[in-house]
Amino acid sequence: MEYVSPLPQVLVDRYRRWKAGPFIERQIEHEMLASQGQKPEALVISCCDSRVHATSIFGSETGEFFIHRNIANMVPPFTVDEVHHGTSAVIEFAVMTLEINHIIVLGHSQCGGVRHCHDTCTGEKPVAGYSFVDDWMEILRPGYERVRHITDKAERIRALEHAGVVLALENLMGFPFVEHSVNNGALQLHGLWHSIGDGVLEMYDRKTHGFVSLA
Ligand SMILES: [Zn+2]
Repeated sequence: MEYVSPLPQVLVDRYRRWKAGPFIERQIEHEMLASQGQKPEALVISCCDSRVHATSIFGSETGEFFIHRNIANMVPPFTVDEVHHGTSAVIEFAVMTLEINHIIVLGHSQCGGVRHCHDTCTGEKPVAGYSFVDDWMEILRPGYERVRHITDKAERIRALEHAGVVLALENLMGFPFVEHSVNNGALQLHGLWHSIGDGVLEMYDRKTHGFVSLA
């Protein structure tokens, strides 16, 4: 394992400051979380993008959110096969074992994954050889079909970011245990889109089928 390096000192220092400060201040809560187990209220599915900070947006504490991040906050269609399904495993564990009451899909502006899908679909980005990102972002292709008629490119990409959230919600309902829990009132699904530059948070409105600002 010679290829594994020690952690950069700056991170060691930052960890030690956290342990001596914020951690110690809430030590009893952490001990309770350790002994009693987690009971998060919500599963958050957000993008890996370093600018998307779900715990910061909602001021959440340790133990509140069960969080899954993947490129472009996608939910793949429900599929049972021999392939490893990380996102589907998270959804199953959150709903069936943790019995969470909310699933929040959190999309965002300037999403590189969405842009990748857009440019692949338009042919602006040539596809050469196998790419995990290409394959992953195929999940969003049905979303592109819904926005391809939009002539302005920036508007089309923004619409695709929103469409990705809607598609994720639709795909969630394809999981039998999600559909069952939603229909019996035990689980609520929420769609959000976050604008990185100005902090605006928009929510999917089931009446208008559009997004409304919560700011
Ligand atoms: Zn993203």
